Amino acid sequence: MPGAQGTQGQGERNPHAGEPLTDDDESIARALEDVSVPALICSLVHMTGDPTWVRERTLRRATSMVDFQIGMSADDQADVRRRAVPAIAAYRDAGCEPAELGDELLDELMAFMAAAPIEPRLAAMMREDMRFDGPDPRAVEWGDSVPDDVKRRSPVVVIGAGESGILAGIRLAQAGLPFTIIDKNGGPGGTWWENRYPGARVDVGSHQYCYSFEPTEWTQYYCQHPELRAYFEGIVAKYGLDAHCRWNTTVTGVRWDDEHSVWRVAIELPDGSAEALDARFVISAVGSLNLPKLPEIPGMDTFEGPSFHSARWPADLDVTGTAFALIGAGASGFQIAPVIADEVQQLTIYQRTTQWMFPNPVYRAYVPAGNQWAIRHLPFYARWFRFIQTFPGISTGTTPFRVDPDYPHEDGNAISEANLARREVLEQWIRSQLDGRPDLIERSIPDYPASGKRIVQDDGFWLQMLRKDNVELVHTGIERIAPNGVVTVDGVLREADVICYATGFRHNEFLAPMEVTGRGGVTLREQWGDEPSAYLGVTSPNFPNLFYLYGPGTNLAHSSSLFFHSEYQTSHALDAIHRVLATDARSIEVRADVHERYAAWHQEEISQLVWAHPSIHHSHYKNPQGKVFTLSPWPIDQYWEMTRELDPDDYIVS
Ligand code: NAP
Repeated sequence: MPGAQGTQGQGERNPHAGEPLTDDDESIARALEDVSVPALICSLVHMTGDPTWVRERTLRRATSMVDFQIGMSADDQADVRRRAVPAIAAYRDAGCEPAELGDELLDELMAFMAAAPIEPRLAAMMREDMRFDGPDPRAVEWGDSVPDDVKRRSPVVVIGAGESGILAGIRLAQAGLPFTIIDKNGGPGGTWWENRYPGARVDVGSHQYCYSFEPTEWTQYYCQHPELRAYFEGIVAKYGLDAHCRWNTTVTGVRWDDEHSVWRVAIELPDGSAEALDARFVISAVGSLNLPKLPEIPGMDTFEGPSFHSARWPADLDVTGTAFALIGAGASGFQIAPVIADEVQQLTIYQRTTQWMFPNPVYRAYVPAGNQWAIRHLPFYARWFRFIQTFPGISTGTTPFRVDPDYPHEDGNAISEANLARREVLEQWIRSQLDGRPDLIERSIPDYPASGKRIVQDDGFWLQMLRKDNVELVHTGIERIAPNGVVTVDGVLREADVICYATGFRHNEFLAPMEVTGRGGVTLREQWGDEPSAYLGVTSPNFPNLFYLYGPGTNLAHSSSLFFHSEYQTSHALDAIHRVLATDARSIEVRADVHERYAAWHQEEISQLVWAHPSIHHSHYKNPQGKVFTLSPWPIDQYWEMTRELDPDDYIVS
């Protein structure tokens, strides 16, 4: 009999147990050349049930998201690969049924990978994410307990069909509620539908940049936008969400009707006409890095060539042989420049603030065939590979980002001893890549603490590009845009045929440009001003039955991928909806005092972290007053715990 980890439900194979394999020994040995040996070791325990594999050696350092061998020597790797072949062959010959491992042994495997024991809360969170038992523990199962007529009377509108809106759709379908997903775009994916500039790719490892219950075989460790779009299209098709989606349709406003306890949702159709929908619940999944922020530079409208925001890259643009001006070099600009540098005749990059970058040798690497094979076939190997990408960021929480009050941090060089050490490592990377070019080194080392803004990834492609003869990095401020180029404050005109504004997004303006009107006619905009906040990032007083995914205070500049957050927030929102439906109540609303306490706590925490440091003058994380309302200050396992079970005392159900 197969163990519980080999099957799920009615004898179905656990999807994480891998597809049974039939490869001969020689092919297995060949494939193993490409694998992560620590992940293989864990998979071998699943295959054999023998814990000796993790007990015979310890890893000398903790997981690293870019070193899939976690520091194992070449000899140790070869030894494991050699002994793994007969073990895998025996697993194959016995019918590919993994052994059932208890929680204690699974925790031991995690501790092996982490090279240290793991705190119980973190271990529980990671076990939930790894899903060794197969089924999705967050799948909504309460649908059948709600009478059909109550469900029929409880339509839900989801605004946005990006990553979190799709997830909301999956959960609402599981609950059996009627729902409509409205999206202004022509298809799913949100940010990945919109951002099609050359080089657009994730800068969070792909194997953790997907739903925990829907892993896939990414072709690259950090995959590019077409693959992400295809992933979301596949999920929408698999869960039958298309029938619920209204594309090219914009929500212009939502208004709470207190008398009927219903949200009146105003939408604009593709032909420009208006329509009204009623919803008992609204889930906003509009994203928070998708409203293009164009700079206000005099003369922008006089430019004679094509000019556009990076998220609006024209599909038919040919940059070959052009003089190309790239204004802004944050996450988007960093990806665009190296990809077009060899095509354009001249690339001028206008960078206001220098970026810290993380040396990442696998940033543009393809997943080799052997690793793909292991991900497909070896039991739970893919989960352990995800662990390698996920755990390093998660395990340190916000500790590396905390300002040490006893450290002389005021000059912005560093915020703590550890942060100084990080600066030195990152500086070393920059110096090594730009050796012999002191001019570029000087322009490439930031004057604020490491990690103070979102760190970007570099496998050398950015720094090596700066050395090219046709590339110029300009740090002089821009005075105006002329019809034929860009004029800097020193009066120099650099001619341009094309201008791309890679100038970021209006990150502080959550839910804009919709008008959201709650109880008593108060609008979200009035309630928030420049200080958007929401209890757990999910809901606000005066706005009953309205939930945000990726709301205020939940962006991650530390830790893992936003998919983790979405899964927690969506479950929390669905729990709240359940509370209303289960008691046939009208609405659920967070208590004002609970929200206030949370908001104060959020500010107290975030103000002690590097992103709020005063040495950072320009950052999309900060509001106009320099305060941070966008980011989460919580270690992800803490947030997992905070959102996991809705506390009825926090809410008014009426
Ligand atoms: P960003 O990181 O905010 O960078 C915007 C750039 O434009 C910065 O260099 C900024 O300079 C510059 N800029 C803005 N206004 C300017 C002005 N008036 N004059 C001159 N320069 C100006 O924006 P982004 O690159 O679009 O990225 C935003 C976020 O989107 C990222 O943090 C990330 O979360 C997400 N993103 C992710 C990926 C990915 O995963 N691969 C890719 C793209 C974006 P300052 O630094 O001085 O403000």
